[in-house]
Amino acid sequence: MSPKHPALSPEQKKELSEIALRIVQPGKGILAADESVGTMGSRLKRINVENTEENRRAFRDLLFSSDAALNKHIGGVILFDETVYQKSRNDIPFPKVLKDLGIVVGIKVDKGTASLAGTDGETTTQGLDGLAERCAQYKKDGADFAKWRCVLKISDSAPSSSAIYENANVLARYASICQQNGLVPIVEPEILSDGDHDLQRCQYETEKVLSAVYAALIQHHVYLEGTLLKPNMVTGGQSCPQKFTPEEVAMATVTALRRTVPAAVPGICFLSGGQSEEEASLNLNAMNRCSLGRPWRLSFSYGRALQASALAAWLGKAENEKAAQEAFLKRAQINSQASLGQYVPQGSSDSVASQSLFQPSYSY
Ligand code: 13P
Repeated sequence: MSPKHPALSPEQKKELSEIALRIVQPGKGILAADESVGTMGSRLKRINVENTEENRRAFRDLLFSSDAALNKHIGGVILFDETVYQKSRNDIPFPKVLKDLGIVVGIKVDKGTASLAGTDGETTTQGLDGLAERCAQYKKDGADFAKWRCVLKISDSAPSSSAIYENANVLARYASICQQNGLVPIVEPEILSDGDHDLQRCQYETEKVLSAVYAALIQHHVYLEGTLLKPNMVTGGQSCPQKFTPEEVAMATVTALRRTVPAAVPGICFLSGGQSEEEASLNLNAMNRCSLGRPWRLSFSYGRALQASALAAWLGKAENEKAAQEAFLKRAQINSQASLGQYVPQGSSDSVASQSLFQPSYSY
């Protein structure tokens, strides 16, 4: 029986599922370049570069113009509001630069976290007010997908059921509003890696969180074929004394995903969550080689793990641009191979690529 009040027309569904599939074509993932002004400031501070609008623009310009073949590895780029309205050095708006390369343009639409009183420092994410109007405007300005990050944590009393259900519901409301306005929602319930919990605890909590998210998405009539999931990988906590191999991480992650994510979801693009560039690539590679069946594409939507080497090479200097672009392309290519399970590390990775990118209680 067809629904009495269909949420989307067949044409809307077709458009959404085509966008989602375009982003996660084989060998492609997402560059998350949607750091807020403050987060970008802390990245620039590490390389002693002032957090000005021009420096933020220059770094993004360098990434987006790195190579005409970038579109072989990157299917989508997530932008921050400021970046949508900035231009390349050749005076071309960034959304057009990306579209001309065949890369799908995304936009971060959440407004950051707010604390949930009476919990162990847990949060929800704000930004539903006026969201429909903002989505409609971003669609006109060239965006075809969106991102909204919810944050959960693991402690003795977290994630609490109130945090799990509040965040699942807000993600579902966001996803529904995006789809009404022609944007594919990236649904991101990130469980932070802060803590000394082990792999099994992370798997257990990830399953709880993801099952609540899909129950809410279905309740809100979200069209799953027109969404992408952006989860944490299942790893041990940052300060867990035991270390886990990429194969162990892969088995725990894929098991959790198989138990909770419907096969209708076309792609799952992981965040890097403070892992080093190399660790994030090795873990993704192991997932795509693991013996368990996977009905969705498993790819990347990395921020830190795609940009750290490029930032370290750039140092805000025009003469380093080429080296920074090469560093970025190298990571994009490696992650593209990892998304196909075809990454074969050559010798030991350089020191920047092996450096942990963890920041406590990471905000975006
Ligand atoms: P990291 O890959 O740096 O964790 O960030 C990805 C992201 O977009 C978080 O919302």
